[in-house]
Amino acid sequence: MLLYNTLTRRKEVFAPGEPGKAKMYCCGPTVYGFAHIGNMRTYLFMDWLRRCLRLCGYTPYTVMNITDVGHLVSDADEGEDKMAASARKARKTPREIADEYTAAFFADIDALNITRPEITPKATEHIPQMLAFTQGLLDKGYGYIIGDGVYFDISRFPAYGALSGTDIERQQAGARVEVNSEKRHPADFALWKFAAPEHIMQWPSPWGMGYPGWHIECSAMAREYLGDVFDIHTGGVDHIPVHHENEIAQSEALLGRRPARYWLHGEFMLVNGGKMAKSEGNTYLLRDLSAKGYSPLHFRLLCAQAHYRSKLNFTFEALEGAKASYQRLLALLRSHADGAARSDTAPRMAAFAEAARDDLNIPKALGVFWGMLRREDKSRDVYAAALEMDNTLGLGLREALREPPADAPDANAEHLDAEAERLLALRQEARANKDYARADGLRELLQGMGITLEDTKEGVKWKKN
Ligand code: AMP
Ligand code: ZN
Repeated sequence: MLLYNTLTRRKEVFAPGEPGKAKMYCCGPTVYGFAHIGNMRTYLFMDWLRRCLRLCGYTPYTVMNITDVGHLVSDADEGEDKMAASARKARKTPREIADEYTAAFFADIDALNITRPEITPKATEHIPQMLAFTQGLLDKGYGYIIGDGVYFDISRFPAYGALSGTDIERQQAGARVEVNSEKRHPADFALWKFAAPEHIMQWPSPWGMGYPGWHIECSAMAREYLGDVFDIHTGGVDHIPVHHENEIAQSEALLGRRPARYWLHGEFMLVNGGKMAKSEGNTYLLRDLSAKGYSPLHFRLLCAQAHYRSKLNFTFEALEGAKASYQRLLALLRSHADGAARSDTAPRMAAFAEAARDDLNIPKALGVFWGMLRREDKSRDVYAAALEMDNTLGLGLREALREPPADAPDANAEHLDAEAERLLALRQEARANKDYARADGLRELLQGMGITLEDTKEGVKWKKN
């Protein structure tokens, strides 16, 4: 399998440390608010990566962190604590905020048919590992303590900047006015920040009460669950210049080796050609799309149409197109379900796998999939091959097919469509697990789709608004 490695700037043959396995770490959400559809694009990329690895014969093992400690507005340790700001606004505790949005996050990735990572560790449950990591760096002379925290000294790590190709010396020459004048280099970053007494989330440390830096969270949790060296590290492209550069510096400084061999980054989603930003009022959530009649799987199909290393421009016209495509796809698939022709789908399967193998070219694989459905004679073989391909595409076709087509006699007000059925089942499962916050997240997604739930003694009832 070929993967584009940001570190070497070329496609490389994937060669895992342990044959047949793929150990990966994916940077997860900071749970101070809802994840937007741009974030979701990055998690879809992670999901397709795992599915393609599986198709190519590897067993992926994935760790994705939940950052439930507030880190600061800028990646470079400046600005306000996001979690504290969100909590203050909602008149809740940071813990309540983190739990609420963690649940909402899982509701969203379930709805998108993203397979849950094997491990989703919370930062707050791994403070001892972060303290040990920081102590190790201090012992080796890579850290120093100043008034507001413990910092990593990048001058001690000459390889700094390899991932993004940043020339750190030049950066210092043209350094902007420094916020923290005690830092030895503007790019030095916090391993541990001291907390003011009113700061709610804080822990004791050998250096004083405080909280971990964002980068150390990922390094410490990756090491805890994947060991000193693993195979793949992923995130969005915005993580290249600071977050991942810093993760590499810390881990390599402490452990003597680069933590991961392959660094993969998903490109950004734009909205109407511009950046998605709260200040622009264009940060859509999955539930905003549901409320307009687009299911999470329509959004998934939209994302499947662009390669993960290309920017993807989100518009409602494009989403409308994806919705129509999804429906056409189901109709075509149904037309093959009872087809009598015999069809040799092996060459199509091979072309599909070839696309997946080439740096997860999902758009190309999708093209093979469409071509097969359109051009082959109506055949049960095609039907079976299409469902097999969907193990990689993840469009939830098997479930969607259980739903009668839109023009069938029982497709009426008494009937929940497959998507709603699926979300309802996920909610019941969440309730059974006493995961009420996630259940509420799913209830809200359904509400957005015009379906109101009522929990009664006889079980859950629903009605369409
Ligand atoms: P954050 O919670 O800000 O750390 O972001 C979560 C993930 O979403 C990270 O991997 C980011 O790189 C990614 N991300 C943020 N904005 C976008 C966007 N507009 N398009 C795609 N991915 C994004
Ligand atoms: Zn990370």
